[in-house]
Amino acid sequence: DSLFSGVPTAPVDPILGVSMAYKQDTSPQKVDISVGAYRDGDGKPYVLKCVFEAEKRLLGAPKEYLPIDGIPEFNKLSAKLLYGDAMNGKEKRMVTVQTLSGTGALRIGVIFIRKYLPAGTTVYISRPSWANHHNICKESGVPSAEYTYYDPQTKGLNFQGMMNDIKNAPSGSVFVLHLCAHNPTGVDPTPEQWNQIAQLMKEKRHIPFMDCAYQGYASGDLDRDAYSARLFLNSGFEMFSAQSFSKNFGLYGERTGALTIVTHNEKYIPAMLSQLKMDIRAMYSSPPTHGARLVQTVLSDPQLTKLWVDELKVMSGRIKDVRKKLMDAIVQRKVPGTWNHIVDQIGMFTYTGLNPQQVEILVKKYHIYLLASGRVSLAGLNDNNINYVADAIADAVA
Ligand code: PLP
Repeated sequence: DSLFSGVPTAPVDPILGVSMAYKQDTSPQKVDISVGAYRDGDGKPYVLKCVFEAEKRLLGAPKEYLPIDGIPEFNKLSAKLLYGDAMNGKEKRMVTVQTLSGTGALRIGVIFIRKYLPAGTTVYISRPSWANHHNICKESGVPSAEYTYYDPQTKGLNFQGMMNDIKNAPSGSVFVLHLCAHNPTGVDPTPEQWNQIAQLMKEKRHIPFMDCAYQGYASGDLDRDAYSARLFLNSGFEMFSAQSFSKNFGLYGERTGALTIVTHNEKYIPAMLSQLKMDIRAMYSSPPTHGARLVQTVLSDPQLTKLWVDELKVMSGRIKDVRKKLMDAIVQRKVPGTWNHIVDQIGMFTYTGLNPQQVEILVKKYHIYLLASGRVSLAGLNDNNINYVADAIADAVA
């Protein structure tokens, strides 16, 4: 009876689906620890003061179209923020385009891989990873595979397994690596492990694709969090990086990000840029203005930058504080198992190790919304709900 009667219903996104269920729940006790968005100590969304100040300065700014590849100054500042001192003249061999946040950067980058890297080049994604990595490859028609990452036994990194998979992947494969604050596990390689990863990837001529969604958010230190990307750049890789300003600037819905591709020879840059612009033009013509202007305003004013850096410390500090409080509350209740991984992990999430049955108890009985994988977004916790959540975990695990 309709052209569209054969359209099958797509599966609900594992993250956004949980968040939707939370919104529909009418219980006054409900707790949202699903989506990775920062909340302050009162559970409220937070507009950064540096962003608020930049917004005041931008009031009435023109709404003209941006160039296809975005604001040139924003692109420069974004690449500089990520690569810092490692840039050191290498900017000539880099091309950056403004994107629809981190997702858009990944998508444009993966399309570029499909079109211009050898046919069949496979994109390797950590197991587990942010689920959208798989969607992006699939919808872009790029083969993907997984590499070992998390060890459920230790709730830490399976470094040997990761190294084996890097070794066994066909030479010239793309590896999506989380810059820092790995989502969903909160488990990052140490600097020494990164060095070994870089060395092996070099031998195998693999291509790093850094997914940078949490710079400054893991340790509170922008340079420290960028260690891996700078290491790869200094090691002479041709590489990709997708930057998101959703979390570190709190710009979620403004869709603010950047894709940078590094090549060995600057003579290839004009052709690469022309192709990136062609893809963007055909997809959405040009990126949105507001978020990029905000980031540009903050990063080009030393005082606003300082304010931003201080706010990053406050946000990452609160999350660290919540980790400790959650672990203490669970240990205090003598919940079976070890829980030190909650404080050992880093970034916005903790991969609790709760199984799907235990998660279901939290959701159904306690109205506490988290991912079926046991991932908890720590930003949703505060002094008003930590004890309630710890009580619920004690009940679910008992
Ligand atoms: N990559 C990772 C690992 C993420 O966690 C996220 C956001 O949750 C993103 C990329 C991109 O997010 P956005 O498109 O909102 O910048």
